[in-house]
Amino acid sequence: MKKYNFNAGPSMLPREVIEATAQQILDFNGSGLSLMEISHRAKDFQPVMDEAMALVKEILQVPEGYSVVFLGGGASLQFCQVPCNFLIKKAGYLNTGVWAKKAMKEAKHFGEVVEVASSADANYTFIPKDWTCPTDLDYLHITTNNTIYGTEIRKDLDIPVPLIADMSSDIFSRPVDVSKYDCIYAGAQKNLAMAGVTIIIVKDEKLGLAPREIPTMLDYRTHVEKGSMFNTPPVVPIYSALETLRWIKRTGGVEEMARRAEERAKLLYSEIDRNKLFRGTVKEEDRSLMNICFVLNDEYKDLEKPFFDFATERGMVGIKGHRSVGGFRASCYNAQTIEGVQALVACMQEFEKQN
Ligand SMILES: *Cc1c(COP(=O)(O)O)cnc(C)c1O
Repeated sequence: MKKYNFNAGPSMLPREVIEATAQQILDFNGSGLSLMEISHRAKDFQPVMDEAMALVKEILQVPEGYSVVFLGGGASLQFCQVPCNFLIKKAGYLNTGVWAKKAMKEAKHFGEVVEVASSADANYTFIPKDWTCPTDLDYLHITTNNTIYGTEIRKDLDIPVPLIADMSSDIFSRPVDVSKYDCIYAGAQKNLAMAGVTIIIVKDEKLGLAPREIPTMLDYRTHVEKGSMFNTPPVVPIYSALETLRWIKRTGGVEEMARRAEERAKLLYSEIDRNKLFRGTVKEEDRSLMNICFVLNDEYKDLEKPFFDFATERGMVGIKGHRSVGGFRASCYNAQTIEGVQALVACMQEFEKQN
């Protein structure tokens, strides 16, 4: 049976990316050695790193004065690395979910942290909009896509201070005005590659300003200066990221990724709104195009398990909602196909007919 992968992360990748990476794991560039067995300093690996960095810059149109680094440690390491490097005195955080809250907690180790707004009281079902940004912040941290709750800030905010963004679950899904950000970071395993690497874009002139001694490995300058080769980088995850970046480029770049995301989301949200059994969980204007969350209407809530089984029998994988929201979550990252979403919609319609 054909499987449709709606996992929230690690998640679906283009088949071509998986095949090309598998090939290099078996035989890297015809060397007779696996990508897993070569030195990151081998002359054949440097071009991989160089091309991956160059493609990040090209695809997101990163302006001059920014560097791209690839690090381990996940987005979670960035929750502390970001304030360690960028927090001078006071930082603002927009609390839009569990990940935002975790980022805020780590920042408190390094200075004053202001929660500029929060939707915690409403179980993060919307993005707060009624707030003014203090002008004395070193940066405002946002989570552009809230993977668990299915809300998204799909634009580059106009505020009087630099932005820093966790884009783990929507990077490369739309064009971004990088010049508004001092730092953008994203764990790869949602929308880019296999788990194990984090992409970080930093504004060079903002590094080295924080009034603290930064341990070598936590200092972005270490990795910028060494081209992400200060220590052994996650070689295979970086290679898989390179293959996805090539795929994004030949498919039409972030504009095409955005068009596809809108097409998929429109189809699925229309069905959620139309189908008598289901309803969406977040405020319409804040709906994520990446993680589409829905639950059964109260009068049908006994059908949760039956629908899950029904969909599973028809090849749907990973549609169970996060435990803090319940119901269902269909993750529709860049690699998700319109056929996948059509198959899920067909399931919902068939199930409605039977109930
Ligand atoms: C998954 C996720 C994280 C955590 O990523 P790790 O790589 O597991 O540390 C952080 N932020 C967002 C928005 C996420 O979706």
